[in-house]
Amino acid sequence: MRTDDHTAARPSWDCVACDQTWPCDPAREALRSEMDRVGLAIYMWERLDEALYDLPPNPPAELFERFLKWTW
Ligand SMILES: [Zn+2]
Repeated sequence: MRTDDHTAARPSWDCVACDQTWPCDPAREALRSEMDRVGLAIYMWERLDEALYDLPPNPPAELFERFLKWTW
């Protein structure tokens, strides 16, 4: 696995490149440059759905902000 890509490690959902919670700032920037807003929102919605299975229970507002709010 390349470690200069800011992608999520599962099931921790930490970034494999910088160890921040994913999506880290570089990941957000890269995703924004790759997709339009609708595509990005859908993509992140799917990631959130996956993360819900992997992560211990989190306050929904926290996950919402982490995965979706920044895409708007
Ligand atoms: Zn990162």
